[in-house]
Amino acid sequence: MFSQVLPPQPTADQWEFVHELQEPLWKAHHWAARPPHASEADLRHGAKIVAGSDDPDGLLATAYDDLKRFLRTGDVCLVADYTIETGYTPTDIPETFHVEVTPHRCRILAGETEGIRRGIFFIEDEMLRAGGPFLPLGTAERSPFIRRRISRCFFGPIKRPPGNRDELMDEVDYYPDEYLNRLAHDGVNGLWLTIEFRALCNTSITPAYGQDAEKRLVKLRRTVDKCRRYGIQTYVFCIEPRAWEPDSPVLTRHPEMGRGGTTYDSRLLFCPFSEAAQTYLYEAVNGIFTAVPNLGGLINISHGERSTSCLSALAATGQGTMHCPVCSQKEPWEILHASLSAMESGMRDANPQAALISWLYMPQSDDLADWVYEIPAHTPENVILQFNFESGVKKQQLGSLQTGGDYWLSAPGPSDRFVRVARTARDHGARVSAKIQTGCSHEVASVPFVPIPAQLHQKFSSMRELGVDTAMLCWYFGNYPGLMNKAAGELSFEPFSESSEDFLLSLAQIYWGDDAQTVCEAWRRFTEGYVNYPLTNMFQYYGPVHDGPVWPLLLKPQDAPLNPTWQISSPHTLEPFPPGGDRIGESFCPSHTLEQVLELTRQMTESWDRGVALLESIEHRYVNDRQRLLDIGVAKALAIQFRSGYNIFRFYDLREKMLRMDGLELLDLLDEMRSIAEEELANNQTLLALCERDSRLGFHSEAEGYKYYPAKIRWRMQQLRDVLFTDFSEFEHSIRNGQLLNPEYTGRKITGPSVVCRRVPDAASCWENPERGFPEGVEFRYSEVSNLAPGQETDDRKTKWAVCRDDAALYLLFRCVEPNMNTLLELETAENTSTAIGTDSVILKLEPRRLYPCRRFVVIAGGGTSTEGDFGATVVRADDGWQGTMRIPFASIELDPATLTPIRIDVQRLLPGEQTSGNNVGFFWIEQHPFHPRLRLGADNPADLGWVVFE
Ligand SMILES: [Zn+2]
Repeated sequence: MFSQVLPPQPTADQWEFVHELQEPLWKAHHWAARPPHASEADLRHGAKIVAGSDDPDGLLATAYDDLKRFLRTGDVCLVADYTIETGYTPTDIPETFHVEVTPHRCRILAGETEGIRRGIFFIEDEMLRAGGPFLPLGTAERSPFIRRRISRCFFGPIKRPPGNRDELMDEVDYYPDEYLNRLAHDGVNGLWLTIEFRALCNTSITPAYGQDAEKRLVKLRRTVDKCRRYGIQTYVFCIEPRAWEPDSPVLTRHPEMGRGGTTYDSRLLFCPFSEAAQTYLYEAVNGIFTAVPNLGGLINISHGERSTSCLSALAATGQGTMHCPVCSQKEPWEILHASLSAMESGMRDANPQAALISWLYMPQSDDLADWVYEIPAHTPENVILQFNFESGVKKQQLGSLQTGGDYWLSAPGPSDRFVRVARTARDHGARVSAKIQTGCSHEVASVPFVPIPAQLHQKFSSMRELGVDTAMLCWYFGNYPGLMNKAAGELSFEPFSESSEDFLLSLAQIYWGDDAQTVCEAWRRFTEGYVNYPLTNMFQYYGPVHDGPVWPLLLKPQDAPLNPTWQISSPHTLEPFPPGGDRIGESFCPSHTLEQVLELTRQMTESWDRGVALLESIEHRYVNDRQRLLDIGVAKALAIQFRSGYNIFRFYDLREKMLRMDGLELLDLLDEMRSIAEEELANNQTLLALCERDSRLGFHSEAEGYKYYPAKIRWRMQQLRDVLFTDFSEFEHSIRNGQLLNPEYTGRKITGPSVVCRRVPDAASCWENPERGFPEGVEFRYSEVSNLAPGQETDDRKTKWAVCRDDAALYLLFRCVEPNMNTLLELETAENTSTAIGTDSVILKLEPRRLYPCRRFVVIAGGGTSTEGDFGATVVRADDGWQGTMRIPFASIELDPATLTPIRIDVQRLLPGEQTSGNNVGFFWIEQHPFHPRLRLGADNPADLGWVVFE
């Protein structure tokens, strides 16, 4: 296993961007002197500000101060000549404003403070677009259709492992004034932070809850008050009502609150149908909103993440059985309705202005069950229904239809599923919130934002058509102040620019003045590249575009796994993850092939580079404008990340080809790989300079640390130099001497367990008639390595098997000895057999290509078959056991029967029920050494496989 000691992470006090966010927003305008146009008011000779609108709580002081600093920064003195005044005009929607500009006066009129605030920022933007202290004469009116625009602190604690830090329990100020000022200018008017009822809510039903509640509430109140001064409301986010700990004393008093049965994490589901449950929910929410005046609202994941109410017994995709005796008599939506209604009335009685946002977190790429679509039609009054905007989004990539799970900027959505949910909710009078990602998503979250505002234009255009009026703009990342936040803020207001071109130009003019057209062209190139991002969550979760520049390039195969992109240390061991490995298939299987990913990442990087070239052509004009240089730096860092991703796939594609070839032409491949390593070294040098100037690069908010940082880039550069110096020379020497390269890895030399796979002309008849047994001449093996605990019986459950093939498919033939067939079959009819887990089964684990994750083909003794591709299985049962055949077409596992080379498999017999430390128990051909489980990749260790040699 590849592993090396990595240089230590920068510590939190070295996160320079936290200090930069506190620096004044306005330091220099970089305006060139020019006379006003005839259509402009001239503020060069001074402007006095007359605050004439009502502001009883003094909420607008920050906005007036900001306007003064803005003007002073532009050398506009604050006396005489021109007047900027604010005043009242009635409006229906908060934040609506009118601006009237005449040669001597600008009036900003609104119905309440937040309209005035928006108007002030609007005239600042107008001056930035004009490139001087000038305002276009005439009137403007703007009004938001996305009324709640909720973001999150970029560097706030996530309240999850491994750190488990709670921002309400420490003394850090996560909301410094100028940071809030920046967010306010971007149009953000809400921020969310995480809470739990058990920590905050002392209720008559749960008297032991809320041990440190007062300390937390003090900080929450302070946060609410501070953010409010910038027009930003605070929302608490939670996943409630949380299923109960099995030994919760609350259940001793009120067993009816936990009658929903046990969940996967041994908790007892919360049943909302009792007086105690209703009281608890009411008091919990009422208590928070009473203790914290002006709290903006509560965002609650009601279903989908962690277990909550009895409804959690049903997966959104349809699996599961409702065990609660009460809820099983109800429609699924009624369960949610019961808990939300109690929470809503608790909130409304304390603060009628606050919003309860119920989030159905259903990120699956598979289709959802019908009951899900009943929920939006039955959303309780005053509850806003929130749904993921893109989950389930589909698109063609290189001729294959792909489906994405949660959060895409490359596929802007909405998914059909969102459209259906939003329309249903609207038809039934409910308000709808879209959960999106704004600055970046899990696609690439190690930069402050990805500059592709055209994608946001598409999103907001659809949100507007669908009548969405709330947006949760981000999860932990994708929220850094700047271009993309600003785009989302601008796109939330009427009049909405139908033309993407017009919108982009108007946005670019705020930042780039006369170069706006060039920058728009660069954004277009970025977008054209970015839309080729492989549409699979595996690429988000394990792909190399987050931190490929610090992945080693392994010339010698290591079979080293990939690591989760959103973490820097293992939640199991708390140790830093080792560097990215060479098992690249883990980032795109099974939806894409390596060839497809190579092509998609090539298009991404090449188009992105064209955009960077455009920015480089204007870069010299911004040598004194740090913010714009940093913007260019972000684009360049992304260029390097995308190039590294592409280079990593190229490198391993070449390596895998080279290891299987013969002759001196191998040297050409080796040369090509060498030039990739050299290009990576040069790119590392560039990235190093960018990182030293911009501490945001490499930082991942969910990881609460850096995916790459200068010391790690230097470490990687040394790794590249080492491999160029040693391994490349060694390989060149071997090639010149005609030696095979790593033949144990490719199977050109078989070491360890193996089995011969013969071509059997009538193999298909074994599949059609499983009682026929094994055909003549096949080689047998036994799966008899057990992971049963000592003392559990092991000796009379032999599993004998063989593999054979014909021209179209691979066959696994097996016979399982089972002394308790009758008991076993009873057990299986009693349980849900839709999954192999927990039932007697035979599993063929097959690695179709080196570096690809294993595919699993499952047959259950009870006769169930699993279908994946054209996979088929047949089973027959006898008194003393069961036997059967699996048929796996070569085409379904990307194998060409004409050119078969050895592949690796394991054949496993998993027994019903028992588990040992989370792993199923049974018998294996190869002894198991499971990893700590990884999301969607499980615990597979690629070393636990044996060879199939095709005869
Ligand atoms: Zn129930």
